[in-house]
Amino acid sequence: MRIAIIGAGLSGLTAARRLRAIAEVDVFDKARGPGGRLATRYADPYQFDHGAQFFTAHDPLFADFLTELEDAEVVARWYARFAEMEHKRIIATREWDDTYVHFVGAPKMNRLGRYLSEGVSLHLETRITSLRQEKGWMLKDENEQLYGPYDWVICTAPPEQAVELLPSDFAHHARVSATRMQGCFATMLGFAEPLPLPFDAALIKDADISWVSVNSSKPGRDTGFSLVVHATNKWADANLETPMDQVKAHLLAEISDVIGHDVHQADHCAIHRWRYANIERQEGDAALVDTNLRLAACGDWCVQGRVESAYLSGRAAASAIEEAA
Ligand SMILES: Cc1cc2nc3c(=O)[nH]c(=O)nc-3n(C[C@H](O)[C@H](O)[C@H](O)COP(=O)(O)OP(=O)(O)OC[C@H]3O[C@@H](n4cnc5c(N)ncnc54)[C@H](O)[C@@H]3O)c2cc1C
Repeated sequence: MRIAIIGAGLSGLTAARRLRAIAEVDVFDKARGPGGRLATRYADPYQFDHGAQFFTAHDPLFADFLTELEDAEVVARWYARFAEMEHKRIIATREWDDTYVHFVGAPKMNRLGRYLSEGVSLHLETRITSLRQEKGWMLKDENEQLYGPYDWVICTAPPEQAVELLPSDFAHHARVSATRMQGCFATMLGFAEPLPLPFDAALIKDADISWVSVNSSKPGRDTGFSLVVHATNKWADANLETPMDQVKAHLLAEISDVIGHDVHQADHCAIHRWRYANIERQEGDAALVDTNLRLAACGDWCVQGRVESAYLSGRAAASAIEEAA
């Protein structure tokens, strides 16, 4: 059996790792490296996890998976000084500890994708643009190159993009086309001298930014002092098409106001726009599988915008295909 997986994020790689026991699996990703939103950017001497910030485990299956990753030293515990803020006022603080563990990729978030793709047949910088059924599934990339035939295809692209790839007779087409993700802007700031902040991670209410991480405080980061700041999904969605210089001007002013330090003086500043960053909790199946067409769609967006959800969705897609095989 041959299976193609579109997307080398956590959901796609989780499915690939399970299914390679019963099939020949090829994973395709348009990016230069695996990991999807488990992402890291570099600007020497700074490093930024500009997508997922940390993850926690509620489901025992995900907790077991994290035990494997912790043993392999691919994830580590982040004992952050955490603050909750209302705009610029700290309203609560606590230290993260082992009673409710907050994990991060180690020594950087994109280490997970690299680890999970070891031994997986990976086609990077390969954007799949269409699927066609022809004695099995054929995939075409943006350079018109064909791959296949495959017995099954799993698509882990965000729903707004998956809907373009999946045929209209896909059994779950209506659900995919009705699902919308939210955007985000990640501001990455590097400083020659550390800022004396009273927290390593802060959740912010009543502002256009929702999150501040001192990225360099995460375990194993031997880098210059670096901050990652996320805009609220609401502000991002309203400004996805705003020119980047205006986005930058607004976010730098907002960050300076909230954290009480003028960040216009940062040694390094970059902003990444995530058009499809996050999604609220969804009802229904954790993976959308059509056993007649032998097509599946999965990803965090089937469950909730969480690393754990991506794992559970990829696993659910693989289990359904194992059962159908
Ligand atoms: C700013 C931000 C902050 C976040 N913070 C947290 C957090 O603190 N905690 C938490 O638990 N979660 C967080 N998340 C969510 C978390 O990152 C995701 O839940 C998880 O990484 C999703 O994995 P996935 O495999 O479902 O999707 P992705 O990681 O998005 O993988 C999908 C992959 O498909 C590829 N792809 C798409 N279309 C094509 C195509 N046509 N051809 C080839 N490849 C394609 C993409 O390049 C991508 O690599 C955050 C996400 C963002 C963006």
